[in-house]
Amino acid sequence: MSLNYYNPLMTEAHEAFRLRVRSFAESEIKPVAGELDNTATFSVDITRKMGQIGLLGMTAPAEYGGKNMDTLSYIIAVEELARIDASQAATVAAHNSLGIGPIVKYGTETQKQEFLPRLLSGEGLWAFGLTEPNAGSDANNTETTAVREGDFWVINGNKIFITNSASPLAAGATLQVVTGEKDGRKELTVILVDRNTPGYSCEPITNKMVWRAADTGRLFFNNMRVPVANTLGEVGHGPHIMLETLDSGRLSIAAMGLGLAQGAFEMALDYASKRVQFGKPIMKYQAVSFKLSDMALKIELARNLLYKACWQKDQKLPFGKEAAMAKLYCSEIAKEVADEALQIHGAYGMVRDSPIERFYRDQRILQIGEGTSEILRLVISRHIGIK
Ligand SMILES: Cc1cc2nc3c(=O)[nH]c(=O)nc-3n(C[C@H](O)[C@H](O)[C@H](O)COP(=O)(O)OP(=O)(O)OC[C@H]3O[C@@H](n4cnc5c(N)ncnc54)[C@H](O)[C@@H]3O)c2cc1C
Repeated sequence: MSLNYYNPLMTEAHEAFRLRVRSFAESEIKPVAGELDNTATFSVDITRKMGQIGLLGMTAPAEYGGKNMDTLSYIIAVEELARIDASQAATVAAHNSLGIGPIVKYGTETQKQEFLPRLLSGEGLWAFGLTEPNAGSDANNTETTAVREGDFWVINGNKIFITNSASPLAAGATLQVVTGEKDGRKELTVILVDRNTPGYSCEPITNKMVWRAADTGRLFFNNMRVPVANTLGEVGHGPHIMLETLDSGRLSIAAMGLGLAQGAFEMALDYASKRVQFGKPIMKYQAVSFKLSDMALKIELARNLLYKACWQKDQKLPFGKEAAMAKLYCSEIAKEVADEALQIHGAYGMVRDSPIERFYRDQRILQIGEGTSEILRLVISRHIGIK
């Protein structure tokens, strides 16, 4: 293995794929990542290029235009993008895991034929609309309603902080909505909604601290009429579909943590070899070299945990606990590694021109999105039998 990332779960094909994505990220994304972040610009051009090299439909079946790759290949791609730029990794991860994932898993043949080809080619991006102003971690507190009128749902409400929902490439979203009440609880259902539906509007959320070159938006629905045929899965199965989607999504957030940590570590190692104080490179001081050793150790552990969770998914074994653990661990070590990498850069890491400053900010969403670290500990505690 050329990159010294030996892992028993990786094949030569995985390694070759990693090198292809790495080469793309270094040549196409790295030169512009700082500027896109500074100006908070979502790049249609880079997104289209990511589509052209197959990154926008990696695990979907070939018959609809997907690449039919295994989970580990997809995770390696997200990891490699995040090693260079978290924003582009976020665009790809949200589209593959949260956008396409549930359509592939729960869509009818007609829905797959209608939605997948244009999403898998990268012509459009698909969003996952779960979060609302009063429904964050408590996703079952959805307030957006869908009332049935003949063959249509009439949808009213709004969603907030939705990735890939407001750029020119945003094509629509999978929404969790309240369709009634059952046993004293909200009946929650998932519906696919095209952006061009009358009553659908979106607006970008600007001035974010993180993922400034990724598209995050708000969605508003005003008496929007959507065919009942767009219901994904069965009426009332919303929480099951959304939670299963999040299990897979968590693998890609973990990959973002791992890739970001790898990138921050490499920057710190390089800087520590060049920065001379008291007559020698600072990496010669044990206080600095021990920091770098701890970073390398955390990254190794994170990679092993994440790849094992991917392997379980590919073997069709339960992987919810491992996905939660990988997401929690990889996002937490991304914070620790980025923090120590910044420390090694000293004052030079604190200026906007320094990539490590961007990495230090971008890691912060990873402990919040798709299950906060607190909620993930709750998920893990249930998996280990704590009621
Ligand atoms: C850049 C960005 C992109 C996003 N993309 C998407 C997307 O594509 N789709 C989507 O649906 N959402 C998306 N989100 C939303 C994200 O998933 C939510 O922010 C997340 O689920 C947490 O919800 P919240 O922010 O409302 O926090 P809250 O749920 O209000 O939590 C606030 C704090 O309280 C803690 N807390 C809450 N409940 C408990 C509890 N029971 N026990 C212990 N602690 C608790 C939390 O851990 C947290 O620390 C995105 C967010 C951001 C910032």
